[in-house]
Order: sequence, then C-alpha cells, then structure tokens
Amino acid sequence: MTKNRNEHLWHEMPDKVVLQTLKATSAGLDESEVKSRLEIYGANLLPEPPKSNVFILFLLQFHNILIYVLLGSAIITAFLAHWLDTFVIMAVVVANAIIGFIQEGKAEKAMDAIRHMLAPRAAVLRDGERHSVEGKTLVPGDIVLLEAGDKVPADIRLLSAYGMLVQEAILTGESLPVEKNLNTVAAAAPLGDRSCMVFSGTLVASGQGKGVVVATGKDTEIGHISGLLSDVQVLTTPLVQQMGIFAKRLTALIILIAALLLFYGTFTEHHDFPELFMAVVGLSVAAIPEGLPAVLTITLAIGVQAMAKRNAIVRRLPAIETLGSVSVICTDKTGTLTRNEMMVSSAVTHLHLFSLDGTGYEPKGTLRLAEAEVNGKEHAVLEELALAAALCNDASLKHSDGVFMVEGDPMEGALLAFAGKVGIDAPQQLAAWVRTDAIPFDAKHRFMATLNHDHEHHACVFVKGAPERILGMCKDQRTEGGIEALNTAYWHEKADSIASLGQRVLAIAVKSTSPEHTTLEYTDVEGSLTMLGLVGMIDPPRIEAISAVRECHTAGIRVKMITGDHTKTAAAIGKHIGLQNSDSVLTGVDLDKMDDAALKLAVLECDIFARTSPEHKLRLVMALQSHGMTVAMTGDGVNDTPALKRADAGIAMGGKGSEAAKEAAEIVLVDDNFASIVAAVREGRTVYDNIKKVISWTLPTNAGEAMTIIVALLFGMTLPMTAIQILWINLITGITLGLALAFEPTEENTMRRPPRPREEALINLELLWHIVLVSFLILCGVYGIYTYAMNQEYGIDLARTMVINLLVVIEIFHLFFIRNIYSTSLTWKAVRGTKVVWIVVIIVTLAQFAITYTPFLQGIFSTQSVSLLQGMLIIGIGVVFFIIVETEKQIRLRLFNQSGLRV
Ligand code: ADP
Ligand code: MG
Repeated sequence: MTKNRNEHLWHEMPDKVVLQTLKATSAGLDESEVKSRLEIYGANLLPEPPKSNVFILFLLQFHNILIYVLLGSAIITAFLAHWLDTFVIMAVVVANAIIGFIQEGKAEKAMDAIRHMLAPRAAVLRDGERHSVEGKTLVPGDIVLLEAGDKVPADIRLLSAYGMLVQEAILTGESLPVEKNLNTVAAAAPLGDRSCMVFSGTLVASGQGKGVVVATGKDTEIGHISGLLSDVQVLTTPLVQQMGIFAKRLTALIILIAALLLFYGTFTEHHDFPELFMAVVGLSVAAIPEGLPAVLTITLAIGVQAMAKRNAIVRRLPAIETLGSVSVICTDKTGTLTRNEMMVSSAVTHLHLFSLDGTGYEPKGTLRLAEAEVNGKEHAVLEELALAAALCNDASLKHSDGVFMVEGDPMEGALLAFAGKVGIDAPQQLAAWVRTDAIPFDAKHRFMATLNHDHEHHACVFVKGAPERILGMCKDQRTEGGIEALNTAYWHEKADSIASLGQRVLAIAVKSTSPEHTTLEYTDVEGSLTMLGLVGMIDPPRIEAISAVRECHTAGIRVKMITGDHTKTAAAIGKHIGLQNSDSVLTGVDLDKMDDAALKLAVLECDIFARTSPEHKLRLVMALQSHGMTVAMTGDGVNDTPALKRADAGIAMGGKGSEAAKEAAEIVLVDDNFASIVAAVREGRTVYDNIKKVISWTLPTNAGEAMTIIVALLFGMTLPMTAIQILWINLITGITLGLALAFEPTEENTMRRPPRPREEALINLELLWHIVLVSFLILCGVYGIYTYAMNQEYGIDLARTMVINLLVVIEIFHLFFIRNIYSTSLTWKAVRGTKVVWIVVIIVTLAQFAITYTPFLQGIFSTQSVSLLQGMLIIGIGVVFFIIVETEKQIRLRLFNQSGLRV
C-alpha cells in the first residue's frame, strides 16, 4: 500500500481489486490494524485553516479610531513637553490593547471549543460488527455504512448501493443529487461521473450504501481544495453589528463635537491651549464607547458557552438573538419529548393480543397471552412476525457489562429484543437469511422493506411500517395454518387501541417470491403482501420535557408537536406532556386538504400534528410565520432541511439527527432533548437582556462624564476633573465594570415575560430617557460636590479627587441598578450579586484607594487623600442617586404593568 493517492484509480478497478489493494475485507478491519493505519495515514481531518499571527492580532487592537485619537494626542502633548500627559495617554493605549487582546482571545477559544463539539461520526464495520466512531478515526480500508442524511466522512469506493443519490455540489458545483451505483468508469472520468465513488464532505440525499474508504483527511478530493475549508465564524450577530455601526457613528459625532469645542475654546480663550486640548481629549475618551463592541462580543461568547453547557450548540450566531424572541416551538415527538428508549410491550396476530415485558433491550423476558405466560414457539404466526421484525431491521444489539445497547435506531433495537423474547435468535437468522436488496425507511412513505434469501433457495420480502400504510399493501393475512382474507377493520381497531395507550404501532407483513428475484422495487410490495401482525412499543415521555413545556407556556411560547407517528399515539403523549389542545389532532391528510388560508387559521388552534411528512413542516413554519410569530423548528432527517432552513431558529438533533439536518440548522441539540431547547431559549433571552444591560450601563455613564466636560468648556468654568483623571476613570471603570454585565445570570422572571417582539429596537425611547436621566443626575452630583468642596475651601485638587471618586461610586450604584432591569434591585439576592460583579467592584475600589491615597499616584494624578467624612458624603450621594433611579424604575414598571405592556 502506498500513501500516494494518484497511484490508484479506484473508480476504474473492480471492487475485489480495490479491497485487495487496500488489504481490506468487506467485514472491516480489526482494531489493531486500524491503530497502525492511523499512525501511517494520520487522523481523517482536513488541515485547519491557518491561524492569524498572534502579533498581528495584537497590532490589530490598535486599529481603532479612539486609539488613533489618543496616539495623536500623545504626540501633541509630547510636542508641548507635557511628558506626564504623554506617559498616561500611552499607558491607557497599551492597557486598552492588552485588555482587548485578551478578551478577543477568550471569545475565540469559546467558539473553538464549540466547533469541536460538532465533530461528525461515522458508522463503520470493524471486526464484522457495526460501530459508530468519530469520523476522524477512519483509515483507508475501513468499511463505512452510509444512509440518507449522512455526510460522507472520507473518499469511499462503494461496495453496495440501494437507491443512492448524493448531493455533490460542494465538489462539482452540480446542484442536483447524482445517482450512485457500482459501475466502474474510465480512468479519465471527471469527478462528477465517478458513480461508484462517494467523496468526503458530500451529502447522501437518499438511499443507503456501503463502501470502503480509499482516502482520508488531506488526501481526499476535498482535502485538495483549500479555501473551502474556512468555515470560521465571525463572532457577531445583526444586533451586535448594528451596535458596532452605532458606536462608529457616535465616535465620529463625538470627534466632531470635540473639534468644535477645541475651536470654540481657542476662540473664547477661557482656557489656555494645553489645558483645553487635554480637556477635549478627555472628553473624547469619556464619550466614545470604545469598549462597547468588545464587551458585546464577550457577552455573545458567554451566551454561546452557556448554551453549549445546556446541550445546545449554536452553529450560526445570529440564532442567539432569534432564540430570545421565539414565540412558538415546533418539536418532534420521538426522542425529543420522549426518551427514545423503546420496548415492545404488545404484539397482535390475527387472533391474539400478546403482552411482553423485560428490561431495556435485553432479548429475554416474559411473553403473556391473557395474563398466562406462554412460549413463543407455540404460536407460529407470532414467530414469523418476530422473524420478520428481526430481518427487516438495520440495528444490532450489543452486550457490554450486562447491559444491552442498541447500535442504530432504538425502535429497531426494540424489535430485535422482541424477537429474542419470542424465541428467535436474531444474529443466527440474519446469517441464514442473506439480504439482497432493501427499500430503506423514509419518513415520506413510512415503511421499510428487505429482500432476503436463505440457503434453501427461499426468497422473502419482509416489510414493516405504519399500519395504515402496510394494510394498504396487503392482500390477505396469515393464520396458524395458512392465509385468510384481510380483516382491515380488525387491524385498525387493534392499532387504534394500542396507540391510545401512547404506544408506537408498527405493522409487519411478508411475501414470498421466487429465488431468482434479487432486486426490490416499489411494485414488488404494493398490494401483494400478507399481513402478519402489529407490534406496540412504549416510549416513555421525558420527565423534564413536562416541566419544560410548562415553562414555555408561562413564557408565552406555544409548543406544537409535529410527528410522523399515529394520531392516537401522538394525542396520548401530547396529553401526558401537557400540550394545550391535546384533543384536537390534525393529520398530514387533513393538512393536504387545506389551502394556505385555511392552514393559517388552523395552525393557531391545533397543537398536535400527526402522520405528517417532512414537507408538512415547511408549510406549518410558513403558516406560523404569516402570523408574525418567530418559529423554532426541530428536525432530524434529510427531508427536514427545507423546514429547518425556513424556520427562524432551525434546531437539529445532535444524536439521531442526520448530518444534512445539522448543516441546515442554526442550533444542534446534543441530547435531542426538548428541555434543552427551552434552556436555549432562556439563554437567548438572557443574552439579549445582557446586551441591553451593557448598553444601558455604558451609554449613560459616558454621556454623563462627557456632559460634565462640555458644560465646563462651554461656560468657561474650571474643569471639575483633569483630563488624565478622566483617562484614569475610563480605563479602570469603563472596561472592568461594564464587562461584569456580560456575565449576568438569567433574571428571575425571564421566563415569565412574553417573548420580545422581533423588531423591537434596542435603542428605544425608554433607553434614551434613561440616558438623559442618568447623565443629568451625574451632572448634578459632580457639580454639587465640586461646588461644595470649593465652598469649604478644600482646594481644587481635593475637590477634583472627590469628584472622580463620586463618579466611580455612581457607576457602581448604577451597575447594581442595571443588573435587574425588569425587577427590583433591592432584594438580598440582587444585592448579593454574582462573583464577577463583586470581583470587578473590589478591583475598582482598590484602584480608587490607590489613586486617592498612595503618594506616587497622587503625584501623577494630582489627587489628595479624602477624609472618612468626605468619603461618607460621596457614598451618601451615590445612595441618593440609586434611590432616585430605582424609584423611577419601580414607577415605570408599575405603569407598564397596568397598561398591560409588560407582564
Ligand atoms: P416520529 O415523528 O415519531 O419521529 P417517524 O417519521 O420517525 O415519526 O415515523 C413515522 C412512522 O413511520 C412511525 O410511526 C412508524 O409507523 C414508521 N416508521 C418509523 N421508523 C420506521 C422504520 N425504521 N421502519 C419502518 N417503519 C418505520
Ligand atoms: Mg423519527
């Protein structure tokens, strides 16, 4: 074997030769061989896009208007020989860059960690057994099983293919799926024509197949196309982008104002130029919300991390915002609301209703007929039913540490366990009855069929699927001795009664055919089957889904269940889970009869949709959206992708979901659990609130400080604080205090509010009013204490020291106020706050003590020690500030409450 991919033209060789060349067999490699090949070929990973140079990333921090302003000022102050100012400005610049650099790195890391959680898996045969392994562990020679919805994990030469269509747009640009088969093609055939090959990164649109890996990692076709590989996400959302633009415009405006003031000041000669210039620089620093975009990015990164911790992985960041405004969640049933741990508990033949029990997937347990224990061997029809259930089946049971586990679909695992309980040895039967062809299960036609041949020249078609569907394909039914006419009414009645218990019902049928028959067509199964019986499976609801549904209802979010399952099963589970209208159920057939207008009406009333196909999901999403609702929709199969794309928040199942669904979705649920969707919505609301809090804290603070300087300059007053003092305050507080808000936990009533309207503006009247109020209060506070200090003849330095301390105290009080924008900030819980809040408060307080009391810093910043009494006065003013804003908030909240605008 050689590592050079060009040496072999796999698409030209017969499959035997391919296997030989790769030293592989169709039963798969063994583990030790895989290990040694992994060492030769390396992990099956595409080369990571090159990371930007750390140094460049650091330099990029300086690419920022504020920094340019500061650097310009540093040069000018240096010309004026104000070395102290130059030094402080440079210190601010460097500190800003370092902090920005660290924050950005953290955000990047958070995103990286999440990317790795989405690592694809592959189904392989190793040692003759089916395993699900991480895609990166594949080696040339591995036998890979593929089915609809899978992303092809490596370059693979097919060994079998049933109705396989593959979407190869990513490689060939061809947008229609191409058919795959086992035909070899000429060596020179272009990629798109190599029909016996499937290539890494393409998607299986339908059918199933098996093949041998011929190339992995960078040796694959896609590995040769670099550039395609950078799916690196920018950490932003529309809202944060808007805020970035807003911050830029604000900066431009502030620089304009600063320039005008400089001009005005020079003209009126209230202040000498150096002082004036520094004041204008201070104004720019105070007013420009330079930290805002960075803090918002951190807020997002923290949100992404929090969601990942709750098992929801965000693939596209704007989804975080959308999640916060979701007003209806459309969810699957099986595996999402239920546990997807199935067990066959009833089986029906033409005469009898058997009941079964046992534990988990263990193929042993008791079989009862009317309370009496019976032996499966004595009931021929039941035995045949069990044989069909075991053969028309893609799953396998694995035994480890005394527990049986399913590899594959849990429902099929349950059928294998069922077969065991009836007395069928599934592995043995699978070996005796070789499968020659299959029609894979598809949510659209709701059945699956296999064609099997035994060694005595018998050939049989085994079919399982939804009862209505299977009954429509049957012509008669099996009895102990032979066959009799199909009693459709009997089967429907039994199916309904099992389904009403919340059990998932499957019908199983059979047909014997001639031994020459080796390919299976739809026409082979239509109308010619013999009905064997029904099985009913329990699939317990997830306990946590019940409380999650309740939480949705208090949060003003509708929950709708969309399932391919039986109406009665769906209704029973819906009732158990606590859906609102669990009595009225619409089926796919009902939906097909409705036009869009009728559907638009119906969709509001009905919460359960049963026997739907994936196309119905798309119509339902659109109908809900036509009411202006923000729709979250779950999906797992390939056919769910249009609905997932169309939904405002498409949510794919991480466990049972196909790669195709994951690619189409904004969010992937690691545990397929409905409760995780609700947790993600809660986090989405929290992120939005925190973004709002960061902004509501930053803008008024900046405005207040800026107003103070502008007023002084306009009226020719002495500045109540020096420019470098302003730099200090902004460096210390602006960056640290605001950041604390990015870490805010969910407010208590977050899930008791109705969803936020999607188009709600972030900078609305309420925020504008808050900015005006707070900057006015800051203005009063600053000039109040300054005038007081001057009247007491404390001297200008002490007066200014008191002013800057007051500013910081007000900022801290404002922070505690902002932490609870929807409720009171005066509860013990609110005051106790979070660790982060107290860490930043302590840092800022220590810094203030340092600048106020250490002789070195006093020298630089011209500050003076503040006495205890003066300190108390400062804090007192902070308390008054807090009381005023909190009272105003309470009044505002009550007013809105009464007018019903906010619950
Ligand atoms: P759900 O919404 O519960 O996930 P599905 O679309 O998976 O429903 O299945 C719908 C129906 O199709 C099931 O109720 C069952 O009757 C049938 N079905 C599901 N899986 C299979 C399968 N592997 N083979 C045959 N029939 C199946
Ligand atoms: Mg399903």
